[in-house]
Amino acid sequence: MVRCDALIVGGGPAGSTCARVLTRAGWNVLVIDRARFPRDKVCAGWVTPGVFRLLELDPAEYRATGLTIQEIRGFRTSVLGDRPVETRYDRTVSYAIRRCEFDDYLLQRSGARVLPGTPLASLERRGDTWVANGEISARVVVGAGGHFCPVARRLRSGGEVVRPVVAKEAEFRLEADGSVVAGEVPELFFCRDLEGYGWCVRKGAYLNIGLGRRDHGDLNPHIDDFVRFLEARGLARPAPHVRWCGHAYLASGTGPRPLVGEGVLVAGDAAGLAYPQSGEGIKPAVDSGRLAAETLVAAGARVGRDNLLPYAVELQRRYPAARPAPQPLVGLVKALGRRLLRSPAFTRHVLIDRWFLREA
Ligand SMILES: Cc1cc2nc3c(=O)[nH]c(=O)nc-3n(C[C@H](O)[C@H](O)[C@H](O)COP(=O)(O)OP(=O)(O)OC[C@H]3O[C@@H](n4cnc5c(N)ncnc54)[C@H](O)[C@@H]3O)c2cc1C
Repeated sequence: MVRCDALIVGGGPAGSTCARVLTRAGWNVLVIDRARFPRDKVCAGWVTPGVFRLLELDPAEYRATGLTIQEIRGFRTSVLGDRPVETRYDRTVSYAIRRCEFDDYLLQRSGARVLPGTPLASLERRGDTWVANGEISARVVVGAGGHFCPVARRLRSGGEVVRPVVAKEAEFRLEADGSVVAGEVPELFFCRDLEGYGWCVRKGAYLNIGLGRRDHGDLNPHIDDFVRFLEARGLARPAPHVRWCGHAYLASGTGPRPLVGEGVLVAGDAAGLAYPQSGEGIKPAVDSGRLAAETLVAAGARVGRDNLLPYAVELQRRYPAARPAPQPLVGLVKALGRRLLRSPAFTRHVLIDRWFLREA
């Protein structure tokens, strides 16, 4: 039997951050992940400066390792087909990284023991310890396995209705004449019904394009329209062999997700924490991974559900449920929204500063 204080299921940003904080506090931590790193994660790879602050990682230190990091100093935004609004800043307001590199770097930096290629197959409660896969015994388990995390699934009672955002993306190396998208100014294209948006994010020699929507219809026709649009504008011309990958995530407050149990907490996408307006999920993953570790360190030997409840309370405070517009007003809000997205002032102060950068 392999013994540890904390077993972390999933080595993405939530899991690796939790692992690093616990390891530095002297805990014996084991991370298992069904994938072998470096692994890819379906994601645009846009990160706000707050992510680096939470990670206590200087972007220059990350760049010095030779990994891709693109500084972002503005955004071009539009409702698909309308004239774009360009919002520029005199400072770096975001970064674009490649998840295959970023996640691998963070996991190695965590200092924790890692068992790659190890899916969580079973989880049993024996007395006051957890036994995973019949061979790992842990005092606490942290579920950081992303949207389909088996630990989070176990905590749920079933029957809950969840409405995830569904998204697809493709990341590929650019040919010399590949794209006119500037690395410093990624492009965002809102669907005309405002149920989602597409993006073009350049990271050095790579381009990431994708589209996410919160309705439950078929995503493929939207992707096809979007790619035709990008090709017509010369923004991207993905080769036929480029692989599109799909995934889902829950925006905070859109689904009932239990966050703690006896000797167990869930973090990141497993807890459904992405910001509803932008879909930013890396920062909530890192933030909740840290908070989970800090809660465990504070709880010490007492890791019953009641001792871990402050984690759930604090997460609900930081990631409250978004209030949806009343149904009769939805049409009006959308019509108004399409007009507002043509306004440079609204775009800068509300869309970008408040909803995407969360600075205002
Ligand atoms: C198309 C798309 C674009 C996105 N773009 C952005 C963006 O630009 N910026 C942003 O901030 N957010 C973005 N997000 C959201 C972001 O990707 C997630 O919120 C973030 O990855 C969550 O991190 P995590 O650590 O919780 O989970 P993950 O990164 O999903 O990591 C979970 C880990 O758990 C492992 N795992 C899963 N099941 C098991 C199992 N049974 N046993 C063991 N291990 C398991 C997986 O292999 C994985 O390594 C995007 C999401 C999508 C779908």
